[in-house]
Amino acid sequence: MTDQTSLHPADQALHRLLTGNRRFSAQQSIHPNQTLDRRLEIARAQKPLAMLLGCVDSRVPLEIIFDCGLGDLFVIRTAGQVIDRAVVGSLEFGVAELHIPLLVVLGHARCGAVIATIEAMDHNLEPEADIQALVDAIRPAVAIAETQPGDRIANSVRVNIELVIERLLSSPVLSNAIEKGNLKIVGAHYALETGVVEVYASSTS
Ligand SMILES: [Zn+2]
Repeated sequence: MTDQTSLHPADQALHRLLTGNRRFSAQQSIHPNQTLDRRLEIARAQKPLAMLLGCVDSRVPLEIIFDCGLGDLFVIRTAGQVIDRAVVGSLEFGVAELHIPLLVVLGHARCGAVIATIEAMDHNLEPEADIQALVDAIRPAVAIAETQPGDRIANSVRVNIELVIERLLSSPVLSNAIEKGNLKIVGAHYALETGVVEVYASSTS
């Protein structure tokens, strides 16, 4: 057993998240930090352990799948984890103001946004209104995944996360925090049936 106190705060946070997810996937959630005491404790100031950028998919609610409670997670969810300036600004706020040491970009199996992008590309469809912006953002990941062996959707989901992380690194606030050792960014994947989160890319370990 590793002594958690000797780990980087980001690694401690990741360990807590994954421990919570193991409880959830094993149907042994303890629903921590949801009491009145906790609510009062954090009413004046928050100190979340991690930032999570996940998908809007109703099957991937982040506090539930990581068995966390109030004040634990700083959460942003967009379809396919697509980022825009508001998303990046929110993450920068989490780092600059709240000093959160870990960002997890979490994709998931059979992501509807990724599947819609694949369909739009295969059939030359023009999605309606601002859905187009989502498809355009995910398109480069699908194009790269097309050249890879294996499951096309799963590969697209993984490459999409890699590209999102790459784009996040162009934020000076985030990249400076990484350089100073104050932030780690990790990519991860959620399996719908098992409920298990697996970390599969760490750009900054
Ligand atoms: Zn999704």
